[in-house]
Amino acid sequence: MAIRRRKIELLVEDLLAAYQIREAPVPVERIAKAKGARIYYQSLEDDVSGFLFRDAVQTVIGVNTHHAAVRQHFTTAHELGHLLLHDQEQLHVDRDFRIRLRDDVSSQGTDDYEREANLFAASLLMPKRFLEEDLRNEEYVDLFGDHFLPEIAKKYGVSSQALVNRLKNLGYIPE
Ligand SMILES: [Zn+2]
Repeated sequence: MAIRRRKIELLVEDLLAAYQIREAPVPVERIAKAKGARIYYQSLEDDVSGFLFRDAVQTVIGVNTHHAAVRQHFTTAHELGHLLLHDQEQLHVDRDFRIRLRDDVSSQGTDDYEREANLFAASLLMPKRFLEEDLRNEEYVDLFGDHFLPEIAKKYGVSSQALVNRLKNLGYIPE
């Protein structure tokens, strides 16, 4: 399965339009709730970011409260991605992606699901249009200056690393 970039881009555009979101930070918790998920903030094992549970009567997104707020937002968005894009097992647990890759490189299909959920999360939390706007306003911005990336990351409620990954993905920063 290839990563469905276009589908994810359109899905994010639809969500931003449906909930009239025009600026960062994107209220991902509100969107997840509107999509029928209850969010449980819980103390989970340290390598667990979160989980998605769904059955006939309920949808629950679990988020590990041991992790920083920015990571909790990203986890919520990642699980929402699974909810909207994937028909998976009833309980899907997300362990730290880097750790999991080391343990298990055998299930290519599963890893594509994870990449899609991550792409969805990054696209929703850092919409392309919003970033374009912010970068346009900073015509001579030094992306690698001391202040710009941390300020933008704060505005979007994401980690600096997630922002850098997104800017690379969009071609603003070379890979
Ligand atoms: Zn996942």
